[in-house]
Amino acid sequence: MKHKITLIPGDGIGPEVTNAALKVIEAAGIEVEWEVLNAGVEAFQKSGRYLPDELLNSIRCNHVAIKGPISTPIGEGFSSINVTLRKALNLYASFRPIKNLPGVKTRFDNVDIIVVRENTEDLYSGLEHVVVPGVVESLKIITAEASTRIARFAFEYARRKNRKKISAIHKANIMKLSDGLFLECVRNVARLYPEIQYEELIVDNACMQMVLDPTQFDVMLLENLYGDIVSDLGAGLVGGLGLVPGANLGEEWAVFEPVHGSAPKIAGKNLANPTAMMLSAVLMFQHLGETEKANRIAYAIEAVYQKGKTLTSDLGGTATTTQFAEAVVQHLVN
Ligand code: ATP
Repeated sequence: MKHKITLIPGDGIGPEVTNAALKVIEAAGIEVEWEVLNAGVEAFQKSGRYLPDELLNSIRCNHVAIKGPISTPIGEGFSSINVTLRKALNLYASFRPIKNLPGVKTRFDNVDIIVVRENTEDLYSGLEHVVVPGVVESLKIITAEASTRIARFAFEYARRKNRKKISAIHKANIMKLSDGLFLECVRNVARLYPEIQYEELIVDNACMQMVLDPTQFDVMLLENLYGDIVSDLGAGLVGGLGLVPGANLGEEWAVFEPVHGSAPKIAGKNLANPTAMMLSAVLMFQHLGETEKANRIAYAIEAVYQKGKTLTSDLGGTATTTQFAEAVVQHLVN
């Protein structure tokens, strides 16, 4: 079956990691008709819009997209393109599996955490204003509807995949109303899943516990901002941002993308690690039912790491983005 998928290369290291992932997808024999559209500065130069309607309509029509990182210029008055995209398509759940790769040396083995992050509200609501010069107010929005919806997503996932424990992460001791509401909603959902162990941790303690022993976590359930921070912390535990894939999921549409940003410092140099983008493609093809071929890509990536000869510079190696992709392709075609 030929899939029709929207492809957003992004900017910075986006196009490089996207090309690397495309080579691997082709070598795995997955048939795709790509609809290539971009967002961000490139799109703005062409169409005058950072997030063109054409792109949103393409995803609405194809239902699935894969996306490289897109940078949003800091402090220039328009909201993040990534956040706008997630909101426009109601991609309320961010799903990020944080797992050791064989051969990648880190302080801990057996890390296998799923970070489930609420994607549509919290301090990402973009409601900031100057009260008087020198005083700024930023609004944290937490609703029962979004909190219940993300909790259901996490518990349903845990039930389906036989995960044992969900840790809800919060700061309800300080933000009694907002994080208090989040916790209340999660507790209500947790009661419906008695077979799944449920615990609550304050976010600062959760970060310390992750650094001390990340293997104690199974599924972590977080609001938007804590989820962003904890995802990067988790990535650091398994070897860095170059390795961790992600999915943004809603009822109707899904956009797959690596956790990392556009890493402008290394952009255009063929240095970026394309693993996170490739593993995002694996998640996407699993979602599309191409499980066998998706798993073959995952095994090929693992085999390259197991050998340990073709490592990009973020992992202490000298391989280029292209060389890493070629090594994965070799495993797939042999
Ligand atoms: P954003 O604000 O867009 O989320 P960020 O602050 O998380 O971005 P990134 O652009 O993800 O920052 O990168 C942070 C650093 O991590 C980069 O400077 C780079 O050194 C490293 N990094 C991120 N992704 C990769 C990658 N794929 N390969 C190698 N190094 C990477």
